[in-house]
Amino acid sequence: MKDERIYLSLSQESGFEEGYIQKALKSNWITSGGPNVDEFENELQKYFENENFVVASNSGTSAIHLALILLGVKAGDEVICQSMTFSASANPILYQNACPIFVDSEVDTWNICPEYLEIAIKDRIKKGKKPKAIIAVHLYGMPYKIDQIHAIADKYEIPIIEDSAEALGSNYKGKKCGSFGAFGVLSFNGNKIITTSSGGALISNSKETKDKAIFYATQSKDLAVHYQHSKIGYNYRMSNICAGIGLGQMKILEKNIGFRQANHSFYRDIFKELENVKLFDNVNDEFFSNYWLNAILLETVEERESLRLAFEEANIESRPLWKPMHLQPIFEKYPFYGNRISEQLFEKGLCLPSGSNLTDKDKSRIKEVVINFFKSI
Ligand SMILES: *Cc1c(COP(=O)(O)O)cnc(C)c1O
Repeated sequence: MKDERIYLSLSQESGFEEGYIQKALKSNWITSGGPNVDEFENELQKYFENENFVVASNSGTSAIHLALILLGVKAGDEVICQSMTFSASANPILYQNACPIFVDSEVDTWNICPEYLEIAIKDRIKKGKKPKAIIAVHLYGMPYKIDQIHAIADKYEIPIIEDSAEALGSNYKGKKCGSFGAFGVLSFNGNKIITTSSGGALISNSKETKDKAIFYATQSKDLAVHYQHSKIGYNYRMSNICAGIGLGQMKILEKNIGFRQANHSFYRDIFKELENVKLFDNVNDEFFSNYWLNAILLETVEERESLRLAFEEANIESRPLWKPMHLQPIFEKYPFYGNRISEQLFEKGLCLPSGSNLTDKDKSRIKEVVINFFKSI
């Protein structure tokens, strides 16, 4: 009999979700918005030291779209985006009929490269258009080089949308990821560090911006007794049922971060003996990754694929890193600034099982595959 499948990243319940869902059902708040949504937003605001304002949305993708709308991104505008990411970072640029400008990664954090970012900004300005926004990503929970990236953005006065979908619980110099940009974005999709089944959040710096985001997320209803609209509206609000799951999940956020740190230590132990494998790790102690996903770099694409197949043989899920956006058929016609760093990460990188629910037995199975694989090559 085959062993049970070990997945990359699964959610698990805290046990508190049901109570909040029951409350929503019993009180007939079975719709988008409602008391659980307000309470979930308050919990998230507390998590961000009450220094930010949070809007719960029906996905992380819609939160990114709202950020672009609120920054006034319109058809024909240019928006810089980290190439090494999940497509949800970049798709909303196209929803606005704007033009994505992709920027390569650097080798330390695998995130947006400061040098190429500045080269891109200068070149776009020279060509006649200053980019309207920069979407920077904390890949797999690893903070990007925040001081350097924000210094460049400030110099050219371009707002940053911080895609923190994978980085709830990460911080840089003690300040939480998601709170650095003009906007921060979280995701509560099923594979993230906590889930609402599907959902996201937009983090902003003022009550006024939060209110505007809610206005757009609830069909842009003008103040009138009838329904009147003078702006394009969106149905992007989180449902009261999903927010109930979120409230239950908030109770295990810290615990989940602890599990993910433990997974990382487990991988560090395995790979410390293997000189030719590089484990994705905090650059220095200014960086604190939640280690949402652990990833390694192998020496060649062939080696990476053989290890992936060896895992698959043992019914263990592993996956190549995100395929860079500038290599995707839908995005390849847009400008790219870089030098093959993200390509190489894509070729040689492999994400490893990192769920909060990995058992000791799972870990021994994973370790066995790795040990046997490197013994055999
Ligand atoms: C998951 C994710 C998103 C999108 O979030 P959804 O809630 O799935 O829409 C955006 N960016 C990154 C980097 C993600 O990993």
